[in-house]
Amino acid sequence: MAALMCICFTGCGETPGASQTQIVLGTVVTVQVYGRQSQEALDGAVEAAMDRARELEQIFSVNIDSSEINYVNQNAAKAPVPVSDDFYTVLERSLYFARLTEGAFDPTLGKLIRLWGIGTDDARVPEPEEIAPLTGRRDYEHVLLDGQAHTVFFENDGFSLDFGAIAKGYAADEMKELLQEDYHITSALLNLGGNIITIGNRPDGKPWTLGIADPSSPQPEENPAVTLQVTNLTFVTSGDYQRYYEAPDGTRYHHILDGSTGYPADSGLSSVTIITQCSMDADALSTASFVLGQEKAQKLLQSINGVEAVFIDTQDQITATDGIRDQLQ
Ligand code: AMP
Ligand code: MG
Repeated sequence: MAALMCICFTGCGETPGASQTQIVLGTVVTVQVYGRQSQEALDGAVEAAMDRARELEQIFSVNIDSSEINYVNQNAAKAPVPVSDDFYTVLERSLYFARLTEGAFDPTLGKLIRLWGIGTDDARVPEPEEIAPLTGRRDYEHVLLDGQAHTVFFENDGFSLDFGAIAKGYAADEMKELLQEDYHITSALLNLGGNIITIGNRPDGKPWTLGIADPSSPQPEENPAVTLQVTNLTFVTSGDYQRYYEAPDGTRYHHILDGSTGYPADSGLSSVTIITQCSMDADALSTASFVLGQEKAQKLLQSINGVEAVFIDTQDQITATDGIRDQLQ
């Protein structure tokens, strides 16, 4: 499902490297680092980045019973719950993006996401009566953060948090920072199930070449619709082909839900790729843009500095923002 999206012409015959692939945060995570450090040091850097991803998984995964997010979801409507720095940072930014996108990105859709179960063994098409009470709620306005006490409080118990649309981005930023600051890595490529973040250039000094999956291909991630060259940037795609449930009648229901309808977003897009510096922001914005649709998303993205996007619609039309259009191949 989460095949590698990057086309890495590393050309690293002489530069030593280290890499590892593991399932973390419910996805395939690959860390590749390069540098003139010893092999031991490079291996240690990769190991530390993976450890950080696993640490974040224990905080953000709703599929781990003992995770922090599950504890918060079970208790925050009763009384304010103290949370970790990681949790606080991601929740605060999530609420910012929920307001900015008027709920197109909404971290309080946990109950709706669980009801559909897309990507799990329990996936099904819920009855309209089950969906109705979980739509149009704007519960992100009812999450109270206390910056002094470092706590979270839910003003009602009708919702739960889900960071599926932002946690991988945060993890990518954190792994990058750790590799740069603690291990002095100047060339790396991290891929968290299609959320890609790069450090510097390829080991041969040239930019990384990354591909955007072709949603209409039977194997989208192996068949790029376009490629582009990036240095020191992140590259995050939300797409209808990434995770979906095929109902017995053959209808496909994908995993990006529109909180205003309660159904998978139907905005005419097959994928949105955001290219920018901060992977957490790119992750939230790719999901929001997918829900908003191209026109509204383009308007929103124009108001944010240093953010570029590539849209692929359901008719296979590719559109890009001004700052990146000429770089697509
Ligand atoms: P992404 O692949 O980053 O677009 O995130 C999709 C995942 O985020 C889903 O699998 C859900 O866990 C969750 N999700 C679905 N719809 C939304 C939404 N509108 N806002 C925030 N999170 C969502
Ligand atoms: Mg996202």
